[in-house]
Amino acid sequence: MTAISLGMPSVPTLLAERRKSRQIQVGSVAVGGDAPVSVQSMTTTRTSDIGATLQQIAELTASGCQIVRVACPTQDDADALAVIAKKSQIPVIADIHFQPKYVFAAIDAGCAAVRVNPGNIKQFDDKVREIAKAANETRTPIRIGVNAGSLDKRLLQKYGKATPEALVESALWEASLFEEHGFHDIKISVKHNDPVVMVNAYRQLAAASDYPLHLGVTEAGPAFQGTIKSAVAFGALLSEGIGDTIRVSLSAPPAEEVKVGLQILESLNLKPRRLEIVSCPSCGRAQVDVYKLAEEVTAGLEGMEVPLRVAVMGCVVNGPGEAREADLGVASGNGKGQIFVKGEVIKTVPESKIVETLIDEAMKIAEQMEKDGIASGEPSVSVS
Ligand code: SF4
Repeated sequence: MTAISLGMPSVPTLLAERRKSRQIQVGSVAVGGDAPVSVQSMTTTRTSDIGATLQQIAELTASGCQIVRVACPTQDDADALAVIAKKSQIPVIADIHFQPKYVFAAIDAGCAAVRVNPGNIKQFDDKVREIAKAANETRTPIRIGVNAGSLDKRLLQKYGKATPEALVESALWEASLFEEHGFHDIKISVKHNDPVVMVNAYRQLAAASDYPLHLGVTEAGPAFQGTIKSAVAFGALLSEGIGDTIRVSLSAPPAEEVKVGLQILESLNLKPRRLEIVSCPSCGRAQVDVYKLAEEVTAGLEGMEVPLRVAVMGCVVNGPGEAREADLGVASGNGKGQIFVKGEVIKTVPESKIVETLIDEAMKIAEQMEKDGIASGEPSVSVS
């Protein structure tokens, strides 16, 4: 029997069931349990510069960031937290190293959560009781963020280096101290710059506990290398159902981190897809400039929120097939482009008109999708 499409978006397929973690609430964003995997980033401004920090948070919010972390290395930064937490459109997490007094300042300032790095805070273990009390009273979750570069000295001696076992032992030890003091709103990260170590650490942590997990490859590097490392490591874990919130760390503007994070989640169907451009790599058979075409179509449709798939293909080998499968596509040849909409050829245009025709048609389809209430979830563009 032939299936009849009713025009409804299909239910996305996941590679694995999500791991069952406990849920915590980071401001307005639920993390863990059945909450969608969220995307975080961190500001690069001086937190004490309230205007610049709020401006960067606004940019991050516009790029799709759901939770933002701000550094708090000085008293001036701590003093700025209350205004930033109040005015930010997304939950703000204060990132605390070295000085436990700023943990209390962040809780008092109304931050949505606090990240602590026990390896970097002297006498942290002695302070856990007070921190747990203050965080419990205000329902402020704590992220225990263990990093390979600042592992507890005791564990470094025991394991010789930051092995997955050492990272996990450190995190679970700190979590157990909080638990002893009746505090349970904890999420954990065990970051390492080597994706293999990092993946092993998170696998062990996932097997040993039900804490929600914040995924990160620390010091992942400049944009190209960091994107690959993060995609590989997050892809391995998320495809096994591990991970509740992610932060891509790049030596690049934070909005780039968000773009990469969102794309990783979209690729795994953990987030509804928006515009997707399916374009071929081009080869000796190409009869148009595929790169230029794909770039121009991508630029022309930037910001589109509906789940539209657009195929841009360079010749007739795979072109008609891909263009037919997409919502909209072009199969090029002999200086012309056959334009497909929902599998049907609607017209053939000269090469010079391919881009504008695709953009016009994409706008019409997007408008219809919006009318039909398909706000986002499966847009894509293919070029052949
Ligand atoms: S669609 Fe045509 S031009 Fe593009 S890679 Fe395939 S064979 Fe080459």
